[in-house]
Amino acid sequence: MKIITNSRCTEYSAPGHPERPERISRTVETLKAQNKLKLTWDEPSPVDDTVILRAHTPRHLEQIQKAFDFDADTPAYPDIAEHARRSVGGALQALQSARAGKAAFSLLRPPGHHATREKAMGFCYFNSIAIAALEANAAGYKRVAVFDFDVHHGNGTEDILLDKPGCAFISIHQYPAYPGTGLTNRGNNCFNFPVAPSTPRLEYRSILSSAFDVLKTFKPDMVAVSAGFDAYRQDPLADGMLQAEDFHWLGETIRQLNVPAFSVLEGGYSNALPELISAYLAGVNG
Ligand SMILES: [Zn+2]
Repeated sequence: MKIITNSRCTEYSAPGHPERPERISRTVETLKAQNKLKLTWDEPSPVDDTVILRAHTPRHLEQIQKAFDFDADTPAYPDIAEHARRSVGGALQALQSARAGKAAFSLLRPPGHHATREKAMGFCYFNSIAIAALEANAAGYKRVAVFDFDVHHGNGTEDILLDKPGCAFISIHQYPAYPGTGLTNRGNNCFNFPVAPSTPRLEYRSILSSAFDVLKTFKPDMVAVSAGFDAYRQDPLADGMLQAEDFHWLGETIRQLNVPAFSVLEGGYSNALPELISAYLAGVNG
């Protein structure tokens, strides 16, 4: 199992913002302090504009570089373009690792799945997972599936991958919740599984299982996972009921697909994030 990270991703923050540097720094500490899981560590790869422009408009790329305030959740932090680009590089490096037959997890911030083709929102600037999925297509993978278990709908990923040949998007998320989308399927390749707030965990798991059935029906040759840990029962941003063992099960189920796969951190705002990521990685690793 390979972890891709870089300490520079902890260099920006805003007082009281839930998407905070400790999410990464405490997870790195926890993973380095354990020896149950054999981990190797790697750096995000450099990213060309051309790779970003498969998913985003030139105007969006320009706006991120200028770093004007996008919305209250998604401020213009100093050097945010570099940080966002590094998150993209983490996803691309994780894809590289999956192509070489080694599972990988990109542990960086900012997250990406709310960023649409032309808009930064919801703590997200560039859509790392969509960019990596399109890069997988370009590298010859003909059936790339993005599986998004963050508690929020991956509206940005859906916006970018909608009706793209060779891609599918499958999202399980709380509804109603931010960003207010994801109630029904869209186009011929976006499959949404809305879950009511405070749904009991076993019911949530059976909905996750239905989503895995759709994933299997697609017969992917590469699986890109938007791994968000905010469906956890103590997460401050949503009303999920999942526990650490459910994230272990998610990892295990992804491993049992027997398809090359990589994961990218999206949300997850509770203090238990390091334990939840550890449980997920243990499941992926087997
Ligand atoms: Zn989320």
